[in-house]
Amino acid sequence: TRATTLPRTRQSRVWFERAQASLAGGISSSSRATSAGPHPYPLYIESGSGSRIRDVDGNEYIDYLISYGSAVLGHASPHLTEALTGVLRTGTMFGTCNTLEVELAELIRDMVPCAELVRFANSGSEAVQGAVRAARGHTGRSKILKFEGHYHGWTDTLAVSNRPTAVEAGPDTAPVPVPHSPGIPAGVVDDVVVCQWNDPTALRTALDAHGRELAAVVCEPIVANNACTMPQPGYLDLLRKECTARGIVLVFDEVCTGFRTGPGGAQGMFGVVPDLAVFSKALGGGLPIAAFAGRREVLESVAEGRVRHGGTYNASPLCAAAALATLRRLNRPEVVTHLRESGERVMEAIRRAAHDRRVPCAVQGVGAMFQAVFTPDGAPTRRYRDLLGADQARHDTFRHELFRRGIHTNAYGLACWFVPASITGAELDSTCEAVEAAFAAL
Ligand code: PMP
Repeated sequence: TRATTLPRTRQSRVWFERAQASLAGGISSSSRATSAGPHPYPLYIESGSGSRIRDVDGNEYIDYLISYGSAVLGHASPHLTEALTGVLRTGTMFGTCNTLEVELAELIRDMVPCAELVRFANSGSEAVQGAVRAARGHTGRSKILKFEGHYHGWTDTLAVSNRPTAVEAGPDTAPVPVPHSPGIPAGVVDDVVVCQWNDPTALRTALDAHGRELAAVVCEPIVANNACTMPQPGYLDLLRKECTARGIVLVFDEVCTGFRTGPGGAQGMFGVVPDLAVFSKALGGGLPIAAFAGRREVLESVAEGRVRHGGTYNASPLCAAAALATLRRLNRPEVVTHLRESGERVMEAIRRAAHDRRVPCAVQGVGAMFQAVFTPDGAPTRRYRDLLGADQARHDTFRHELFRRGIHTNAYGLACWFVPASITGAELDSTCEAVEAAFAAL
């Protein structure tokens, strides 16, 4: 049976060995170095359909990575294929203005509370950079406050304190800005103030010390990159209030939450409206498109052309068509409900299995995106440092046991499960059975 057979991934190993001769490290993104399963090489995927992917050895998996949440409608979704086929016939890109980008911006304005104006980019990293540039241009200030553990892409600007070790991170009350990589200039790091998440006192202390120099406070409203750590009640309101009082631009990085947690993203869900928000992933349904959007006043300098933002590929007809088709689906109440309820079923299965086996485990997030964290007492995490105390080895075993049973999840325990809207009842049944069996094997 599937449960006892380790999926054979020999061809993935062959491809990985071959890749290392030409691709730096054998990969195209640093985050792909980690294997998806109980083997020391990445998985090579040959095809996908709906919620399923097939690797180069012919093994099939139900996919809860779903290209980091991007292919939200499922792989090779008919909704997208139809829209894309039309564009393939008429030209994918002209580097000029096109009508689809206008329709797409209008739809985003209708769906997202903060979005009075929109600018498109190609990746989350780029769109974060655009939002930060706009905030700096608008305020005339240069420093940015970010939260320890939150991820905002790989650019120099904010690749600071993404995943510091306990030693690097410094004291609880005075976290140290830690560059995520060599090659990030000290001057850039000096412009970043790092703060603990979900801690009102830490926030006020940091704002009292640096508030007048801060252009923006940037955060993940649900911290997808910290195992879906949820905001404490009132915390996002506090961010909003403090930023307003101090003339700081509040930026929600909704690259993971946007359009996945509902048409209005996290800001719609929590009823807290930032000045700017960043979108990607679910926006494009699997094609590379991103956006920063927000209050007219804050984006005025971009609109006037004083603050520069460019991009050859921005909102190409190919990607704009994919995004339009995707958002039209994600704007439908039945699709929103299906995403939420499907994820809630898996969350509940994990909770039940953990409870039955007396394994301390926090299942946190919202239906469409969530994570299981093996905290010592099973309490949900409040901030990045809580994750450092969780049992990462147990999480890896859990993930490997799921993988052996045909369930593909993110290789990083600090990331999360993303549910595809294409998920079926039978696929959810298989997932819940695999969860039960994985806990039995822990
Ligand atoms: N912000 C968040 C919250 C993300 O999760 C990511 C990607 N994982 C990014 C920004 C960067 O997006 P990209 O990889 O498209 O540059």
